[in-house]
Amino acid sequence: MTEGFIFAKYHIIERFIVIAKSSQPRRTPYWFTEYGLPKASTPTFYKFTSERNTAMDEKFMRAALTRAKRAAALGELPVGAVIVKDNRVIASGYNKRELKQNALLHAEMTAIDRACKKLGSWRLTDCDMYVTLEPCPMCAGAAINARLGHVYFGAYDDKSGCVHSRANLLGMNLLSHTIPYEGGIMEAECSALIKDFFANLRKRPKRRAATEDKNEV
Ligand SMILES: [Zn+2]
Repeated sequence: MTEGFIFAKYHIIERFIVIAKSSQPRRTPYWFTEYGLPKASTPTFYKFTSERNTAMDEKFMRAALTRAKRAAALGELPVGAVIVKDNRVIASGYNKRELKQNALLHAEMTAIDRACKKLGSWRLTDCDMYVTLEPCPMCAGAAINARLGHVYFGAYDDKSGCVHSRANLLGMNLLSHTIPYEGGIMEAECSALIKDFFANLRKRPKRRAATEDKNEV
């Protein structure tokens, strides 16, 4: 029994030595140390913290919400976006992914596309974007590519938001451009619209099933 115990003890020590020898110092992923942290621990210095004109924010977020409601009326996920230059809306867009069966047609992509056409330039440095839902990786990437001045969003997207919730793409200085952002502008209204959409979506198959049953009888 003692021999067995000694052997087991030796075996454990030996395994530790093997592990110690084989384990190379691992590089902590870049995004883990600097970016992509959960919402609560995202460094606040990447967030746009200067005093905001809340009346202006509401005005433009309301404009984005109007576009989101257009998407809702078409049965699309209700997301709307506007691009603002010199305190005026110069372009807007809403989600048309289902309608056009095009993965690129998020609200932000349409708004950026129209703003570029309107200004005749791919650089939207003096422009800000207001969007009802936190941008996904594609739209956050487009905002960086367009060199947008600021991004303001309504509802946080814990699943795929790449401005604050899942990653902080705007704060990574990609393409040597950092975009200050602010989230949670009219958050209640923006997220209520999305919640209603999913609630209706869940109701739909049940209704269909009920009518099918009726037909059978
Ligand atoms: Zn998107």
